[in-house]
Amino acid sequence: MKQWIAFYQQHLLVLQGSFLLPSGALPKPDFCLALQPQASIELAVFSQLPELPGLQLWTDKEVRTLSTEDLMLYGRARTLYAWYQQHRFCGYCGHPTEPMIRGAEIYAHCPNCQARHYPRVNPCIITVVTRGEDLLLAQGKRHRTGLYAAIAGFVDAGESAEQALVREVQEEVGLEVYDQQYLGSESWPFPQQLMLAYQCQCLPGELRLQASEILDARWFHYQNLPDIPPVQTIAGRMIRYIAKTMQEAKTMQVAPKTH
Ligand SMILES: [Zn+2]
Repeated sequence: MKQWIAFYQQHLLVLQGSFLLPSGALPKPDFCLALQPQASIELAVFSQLPELPGLQLWTDKEVRTLSTEDLMLYGRARTLYAWYQQHRFCGYCGHPTEPMIRGAEIYAHCPNCQARHYPRVNPCIITVVTRGEDLLLAQGKRHRTGLYAAIAGFVDAGESAEQALVREVQEEVGLEVYDQQYLGSESWPFPQQLMLAYQCQCLPGELRLQASEILDARWFHYQNLPDIPPVQTIAGRMIRYIAKTMQEAKTMQVAPKTH
C-alpha cells in the first residue's frame, strides 16, 4: 500500500506519531504526487480535514524534531506542496495551470502562454564567525528558542553566496569577515530553503548588534559553548564540527614530538 505525506492548510498530518500515513485509511486527496525516488511515498494535499480518529496536525515546531533523514523526506514533500500552492495560476497571464509530472521533472504548465513554473528553493547562507579559539553565536529575534545559533540570511537578488555572507555579518553584528570556508549544504524546508554553510574569520572590531534581528550575540570559547541547536540542523552540526576541529588543532599543538 502507498504511504502518504499529507498536508492540510500548512499542517502536516500525523497518525500515532508517524507522518507516513497508510493511504487506505484516508479519503481521496485533492492533489497527489509520487515523491521520486521513493515512488511508494506520495505527497497528498487535502483542502478538507479528513476525519480519522487520532489524527494530529503538526506545525513547524513539531516537525523540527524529526531526524535528519525524516526531515529530508518531509522537505521534498513540503517544497512540492509549496510549489502546488504557489503555482495554481500562471504568474505571467493568470490562467489556471496544470501540474506536469514527467519522471523526476515536475512543473506547472500554463496551457495559455506555455510557461513552465518549476518548484523553487531559496538559497540562504549560514555562518559561524571564528576568532582564535572563539565562535561567534547569536540569538535571533524571529525564532526565540533560547539557543545560540549561527548567523543566517537569504541570498539577495544578484548576490553570490559569499557576498551575502559578508553583507549579513556586517548588518547583523557589524564585523568584517574574510577567509570564507565552505562546509556543506542542507535542504531546510521552513520553507523551501537551501542552507549554504560557511566558517569564516573576522577582522578586529567591536560587536554592533542589529536590534531588529539579533537579541544577543557573543563570543564563546569552543570548550564553553552555550545551548546550541540540535544535530538535526546544519547549524548544530557546523558548530560542533568547528569546536571539534579547534580541539584537534589544540591537541596537535600540545602533542609531544615523536622523533
Ligand atoms: Zn500563462
